[in-house]
Amino acid sequence: MAEAKTLHDAFIDELRDAYDAEKQLLKALAKMAKKASADDLSAAFDSHLGETRGQVDKLERVFASLGEKVRGKHCDGIAGIIEEGKSVMEEDFDSATMDACLIAGGQRAEHYEMAAYGTLVAWARLMGHTEAGDLLEEILDEEKAADAKLTALAEGGINEAASSGTTSEDDDEDDAPAPARQKVRPAKAKAAKKKTTRK
Ligand code: FE
Ligand code: ZN
Ligand code: FE
Repeated sequence: MAEAKTLHDAFIDELRDAYDAEKQLLKALAKMAKKASADDLSAAFDSHLGETRGQVDKLERVFASLGEKVRGKHCDGIAGIIEEGKSVMEEDFDSATMDACLIAGGQRAEHYEMAAYGTLVAWARLMGHTEAGDLLEEILDEEKAADAKLTALAEGGINEAASSGTTSEDDDEDDAPAPARQKVRPAKAKAAKKKTTRK
């Protein structure tokens, strides 16, 4: 009977998965940058696209540091997240709502990556792969920063722009029932927060 595969084998499998995920994200981020209407959102996707190219490079150095051939293995998880993002981009949303949805989809991808790299860093450290661990931690930090940037953009006006537009015109602001809507939204957000933190 062949020997059972080890944590090191699982580590290499996960690296291949991450490598493939980054390659898929190169294409997705380019599309998202094009689709975004707000300049700062488009710039954020563009800048993370550049970072993602660097991550592909870093992963190649991780493989090299382990004496492994560079190889990807189809990442079904990120493929699903990208697929969902594509469906949303085909919807007929007003531009501010589309921007809010692009952020929502982008953050799903960043959180998926944060989970993957968090595990990879821990495993690399555990097995004494110092160089790999350092490179993977650099990538993890970039994913966290990309996620935080998207949160800042959402909270810095994009969500509000989406919620204030019952139409895509911005000259309706005065006759919209804004106070009532503003009361409802935070309450809903609070309720949702409670739900997710309750065990
Ligand atoms: Fe990435
Ligand atoms: Zn995956
Ligand atoms: Fe990312």
